[in-house]
This record gives sequence, C-alpha cells and structure tokens, in this order.
Amino acid sequence: MGEGRGDVADRATAGFRQRYGTEPAGRWAAPGRVNLIGEHTDYNDGFVLPFALPLRTVVAAAPGPDGRWTVWSELDDEPVEFGAEAADEPGRVDGWAAYVAGVVWALRAAGLDVPGARLAIASDVPVGSGLSSSAAIESAVLAALVDLGGLDLPTERWPRLAQRAENDYVGAPTGIMDQSAVIRGVQGHALFLDCRTEEVEQIPFDLDAAGLAVLVVDSRAPHRHADGEYAARRRSCERAAATLGVAALRDVPTADLDAALARLDDEETRRRVRHVVTEDQRVLDTVALLRAGRVRDIGPLLTASHASMRDDFEITVPEVDTAVEAALTAGAHGARMTGGGFGGCVLALVDVDAADTVARAVADAYAERGFAAPGTLTVQPAGGVTRM
Ligand code: ADP
Ligand code: MG
Repeated sequence: MGEGRGDVADRATAGFRQRYGTEPAGRWAAPGRVNLIGEHTDYNDGFVLPFALPLRTVVAAAPGPDGRWTVWSELDDEPVEFGAEAADEPGRVDGWAAYVAGVVWALRAAGLDVPGARLAIASDVPVGSGLSSSAAIESAVLAALVDLGGLDLPTERWPRLAQRAENDYVGAPTGIMDQSAVIRGVQGHALFLDCRTEEVEQIPFDLDAAGLAVLVVDSRAPHRHADGEYAARRRSCERAAATLGVAALRDVPTADLDAALARLDDEETRRRVRHVVTEDQRVLDTVALLRAGRVRDIGPLLTASHASMRDDFEITVPEVDTAVEAALTAGAHGARMTGGGFGGCVLALVDVDAADTVARAVADAYAERGFAAPGTLTVQPAGGVTRM
C-alpha cells in the first residue's frame, strides 16, 4: 500500500521540478481516510465515524499563467492543461484531471478568483481501494489554490466545496463524509459526523496510548456490480422510510425498531432497515465508549457491524468475509468491512504487537482460498489537510 517509492513529498517536489523546470512555491498534503463504523448510514441522514490516515496525497504547486492550470500526477505520464472555459463546464476535463478541474470549478462557482497554477501530485493513498484518494486529491488541490490565491475561504466551507467538485464536476454521487474526514481530521481522534445536520465532533481515539492499532486490509476484490447494488440499497431505504412515514431511517429510534419492522411487508426490506437502524445505534455506542476511554471495548461493535452488513444489508463478498474471520481468529478485538461494500477494505482493531500476526493470518487465509494477496497496513488516526 504505497510503500517503497521514496517520500511522497519529495516525489511531488521532484515531479514539479522535472515538469516545470523550476521550484514549487509550496506543498500541501491531504490524507486518505477510513470509516471506523457507520456504513450506509450517511444517505439515511444518520451517523458516521471516520478518521484520517497517515497516508497522504501531496501537491507541489506554484502560480502559473493567468486563467490556465497545468497538472501532472505520477499516475500518468502526460500533464493535463486547461483554462477557465473548460473548468467552467462540468465534463469538459475528463479522466483523473477532472478531480482537479472540479475544484477550480467549485471555487469559481463560489465566486472566488482562482489563480492560474502549475501543480504536481504524488500520493501514497491507494487509488480506488475505498480509502478516499479522491477526497485526498481534491482537498490537497483546494488547499494549494486557496493559499496561492490568498482566497478568503474559511476551512468550514472546504468539505462542501470539495464534495461539489466530485458530485457536480466529476459526476460521482458521494456524501460529505470523505471530505469532512480528510479536511477536518485531528491526530488521535475520529470525527463523529451527523450527516443530517453536518455537525461534527472530535472524539478521542488514541490507539497508541491504549497499545492498539488499526490494521487496514485492502481486500483487492474486484468491485462487482457495486454501483447498481448501491443504488438498489439506497432505493430500498428511501421506500422503507416513506412506508414508515419518516423523513429518513435515522428517524426510526432503536426502541421502535421491532414495531417498525412489523409494518414492512417484505423480508428483504426488513433486513435492510434493521441494518441501518442498528448501525446508527452502533455508531452512538462506539462514540460513548470512546468518550469513556474504553477503546478496546469497541471491538464487538465493529464485529457486529460486519455481521449486519453481511447478513442484513448483504454488501460483503467472500474476500472481505475471509479477512474479517481470519483477523478475529488471529486475535483481533473486532473487525469489519469498511466502505460501501462489494470489495474495498477491512479494518481490524488489534494490539500493536499482534498486528503482524493478524496480517499474516489474513494473508495465509487468502492464499488458502486462492484469492489475490491482500494489501495490509497498520495505522493510527492522523491529522487532516495541511500546508507542509
Ligand atoms: P477512492 O476515493 O476510494 O480511492 P475513487 O474512485 O473515489 O476511489 O477515486 C479514485 C480516482 O481519483 C482515480 O481513479 C483518479 O481519477 C483520482 N485520483 C485519486 N488520486 C489521484 C492521484 N494521486 N493522481 C491522479 N488522480 C487521482
Ligand atoms: Mg472516493
């Protein structure tokens, strides 16, 4: 996972020098993120609890010719250049550079005078694994452009702008979680986000002090029908909320769950609703334990979340189920798939000195089943976007 290619900030600087033959004016970094708990709760107006990762995307940048942007990423040989006319029309810049043009577009749409710029991007965040390399690139570019232009844009507004870049320019329908975690993350904390009110609270999540770590396993499972299945889950939740006469499933209190389920006439919908309502409760319970400093005790909630995603929401695949089982058998305190499902990553709460053993157990279980070798990485909650 992003290892063995030299320091990411050095790579961004070297890329800048090589492409543009001059020194960058500065470097800006934004992390990837994982969601500790709270899956498919976001579009049900519920709760999520992500944290920022120590893996980062770094943008080296300097002012460029007025009204033009040139961007190079180590993922691609060729730099991409565009002007205001392309940035102002969603879809005109496509491919990976759309994430950059989208940020220019969102800033301009907010009435800000975005400076022309040259950018070079390097990243240790695995792309397309569910660790939000997309929010990382958007947020690092946003920070660079705000600083270079001396733009008056308080950081509270950054998540919404970065999200607009992804939703409206790139055309990927995502919620506000990724950008919030990547921009507002604080070291040693998880971000408790109420997806209805967009209120956030920093929750102490000091793994290090508790002798714990989170092991992140990239399942490397190909995303099978993820888009269609996601849309189907969303529809099912919206229909159930309408039947129950609530604005969103977040409005079904845990105490009323059985009564609500009795009002739904098909078994599949009942299972979908049960996942969302119990998952919201698990987020609240996790937050309560963390506030009380009982980090290790959140393990069973993580594992229960996985069972709910596997049995009720039906969004797991054999690779992620295998990783969770192997991690638990090898001594993890709790483990779950993280992200939208049908592949992506698994996280496991482990004692620091057991991390290697658990990682090896997962790799062995994969080999036994003939799955492609998983990526593994041990993390602690890191800080959000910064100027370096
Ligand atoms: P995730 O956010 O889970 O990594 P997404 O599909 O949301 O997956 O976003 C991945 C896309 O974001 C990539 O396909 C690419 O277009 C863009 N992207 C992310 N990081 C970079 C980067 N360092 N350089 C260029 N494009 C990037
Ligand atoms: Mg993404």
